[in-house]
Amino acid sequence: MNEAIERHAQATPGFEQRVQATLQRLRAAAEAHADTLVQATSLGAEDMVLTDLIARHRLPIAIATLDTGWLHSETLALLDAAEQHYGLRIERFAPPAEAALHFVRSHGELAMRESVALRKACCALRKLEPLERLLAGRSAWVTGLRREQSGARAEVPYEDQDDAGRTKFNPLADWSWAEVWHYIATHGVPYNALHDRFFPSIGCEPCTRAVAVGEDFRAGRWWWEHESAKECGLHVSALPDPAPATAATETA
Ligand code: SF4
Repeated sequence: MNEAIERHAQATPGFEQRVQATLQRLRAAAEAHADTLVQATSLGAEDMVLTDLIARHRLPIAIATLDTGWLHSETLALLDAAEQHYGLRIERFAPPAEAALHFVRSHGELAMRESVALRKACCALRKLEPLERLLAGRSAWVTGLRREQSGARAEVPYEDQDDAGRTKFNPLADWSWAEVWHYIATHGVPYNALHDRFFPSIGCEPCTRAVAVGEDFRAGRWWWEHESAKECGLHVSALPDPAPATAATETA
C-alpha cells in the first residue's frame, strides 16, 4: 500500500505552474552548463521528483549518488529500480574501501554514535570525499533542498554557489512536502519503501530512524545529537546558522 502517498500527497493551487517553473529552471541550468551539470541524488522523495523531470523531459543532466556503504537495502533496491524504470544510469560514488575498513577497525562499526567528531569523520569519509569525486569536472549541480525541510534550510535560494565556486541549483526550494508527494502520485514516480514506514528523511542505516507522529521531519536523522549539529556537510556552505527545525522534510 502506498501509505506515504495517502498520508502526504495533496494538490495545491498553482501546482502545475510550479512544476512548469521547476522544469524551466532545470532547462536553463542544463543550457548554461552543457555537459557539466549533475544531479546529486540521495534517492529521497524530492530527488526522485527531480530525476523524473530530468528523465521525462530528456534533459542533458547526469545523475549520480553517494553509495556510502551504509545505505538501507530499500535504498539500494530503489537505485536499481530507478535505473530500470527510467532506462538511465545513475553513477555511484563510494568511499575508498581501504579507508572505510581502516575507519571501522580503528573506531568500531557504530563509531558515529560515540561523538559528533567521529560522526563527522565518518560523513567526511563516506560522503564528502566521494562527493568531491562526484563533482570533479562539473561546473554545477542540482539538489533537492527545500526551504520547508528545516530551520537551517529556510533561506535556501534557487541558485547558489558552493565553496569551490560551482553553481548549485535548488529548483524545488519553494515546494511543499504535499506537492512533492502529489507529483510522485500523479507521475508514477518510484520511491523508497521506507517512506511508507514513517521515514520522511533517509540517510545511512545507522543514522536514520522512523519518526513518530508530531515529530519533526529531521528528528530521525542523527537523533542522538543536538539539533544544531545535524548536517553532514554536503550542504553546509549554503546555509545560514543552524536553528531548531520547525517543519517537515529534507534530502541529504
Ligand atoms: S550518515 Fe552516518 S553512516 Fe552515513 S556517513 Fe554520516 S555518520 Fe557515516
